[in-house]
Amino acid sequence: MPEAASLDKDDSLARFSAGFCLPEGMVYLDGNSLGASSTAVIDAVNAVLTEQWGADLISSWNKHDWIGMPVSVGERIAPLLGAAEGQVVSVDSISVNIFKLLNTALALRPGRLDIIAVEDDFPSDAYVAQGLAALLGAGRCRLRLVAQTQLEQALDSKTAVVMLSHVNYRSGERYDMQRLSAAAHDSGALILWDLAHSAGVMPLDLDAHHVDMAVGCGYKYLNGGPGAPGFVYLNRRHHGRVTQPLWGWLGHSEPFAFKTGYRGAEGVAQFQVGTPAVLSMAALNAALDVYGEASMKAIRTKSLALTAFALERMDALGILNEMTCITPSTPNSRGSQLSLVHPQAWGISQALIEANIIVDFRAPDVLRLGFAPLYNSFGDVEITAMTLADIVRDQRYLSVRFQQRPKVT
Ligand SMILES: *Cc1c(COP(=O)(O)O)cnc(C)c1O
Repeated sequence: MPEAASLDKDDSLARFSAGFCLPEGMVYLDGNSLGASSTAVIDAVNAVLTEQWGADLISSWNKHDWIGMPVSVGERIAPLLGAAEGQVVSVDSISVNIFKLLNTALALRPGRLDIIAVEDDFPSDAYVAQGLAALLGAGRCRLRLVAQTQLEQALDSKTAVVMLSHVNYRSGERYDMQRLSAAAHDSGALILWDLAHSAGVMPLDLDAHHVDMAVGCGYKYLNGGPGAPGFVYLNRRHHGRVTQPLWGWLGHSEPFAFKTGYRGAEGVAQFQVGTPAVLSMAALNAALDVYGEASMKAIRTKSLALTAFALERMDALGILNEMTCITPSTPNSRGSQLSLVHPQAWGISQALIEANIIVDFRAPDVLRLGFAPLYNSFGDVEITAMTLADIVRDQRYLSVRFQQRPKVT
């Protein structure tokens, strides 16, 4: 069995961790929830604060092209998604973007009213669909939540759109984008992928798989900072055929003509609504620089090596006899996290955090370990496995000090 030290020595991405800001001695395994900060991001945001906003004030909208940032940042995200230019814009949160896209999907499939989603997917996505169904009424929109294993059988002539996370947030299972996109298309429906747990950590092929629409997150593996804008992908074949429902001035074809009537911009630029969050966009923009040097193929290779090494060490230390790993062991079906189930998963997560190993917990009983190949090392995995083995052995997770739950878990 290879040692962590020798795996770290042979790691072609090891040099990138120096650019990230992580406290000395901390092992951070929560990049799937909030990516780490970096010196590139801090310098870029400082420059916007002092040199742009601070010195150039309102002229910065033109001088520093603040107004073009949703489109320019979207174009920098596009290659990470396997998307040709003109199809990605960086705006709003995933939840808001799903609202826009589901409505668009229903308009593209008149006569079909069903949104099909899987029942254990990220709740916000389903909440948005429920809200849309309530708004449009039962005759025009219906959400059908099905078990993952029933998804393909559930598709029929009433299905307008299938909405699915590429990697399940709770289990870490990665779905077959090509097969499921084709299945949606075979039934005459559209496919909407949520890339929250895959953008920035594995190669994606949206164009090649004829994906219709996708959304993703700026603050997870893309490291754009808390509240960073997400993104919308709309395949070019749908451009010019639809209007997204949130008609705001920045989605207008001529925002500064200040015309009374709305005329949406051509293409994906129409998915903008109001003023962009420039500070957050600057952070996300700078965080994307690293992808100019680190290839997505190398990132995925290291991600799989990290999760494989973690599984091997946890097995060797007996942890997998106490906790059940619900993330598939087949590499192709694995995202960049491992999810371990235990009735005391909350207490275990708190005991790890006390040992300066930052992980998270998803109700009711899942401990999530997220691996960010740009800054996590095999040494991090080794320390985590050893510490977790100690915690499971001495049952310190039962201590009353680990039983309090804050608002955000
Ligand atoms: C994190 C996450 C979101 C977050 O949605 P926001 O609206 O951007 O807060 C949505 N979907 C999935 C699958 C996620 O993991």
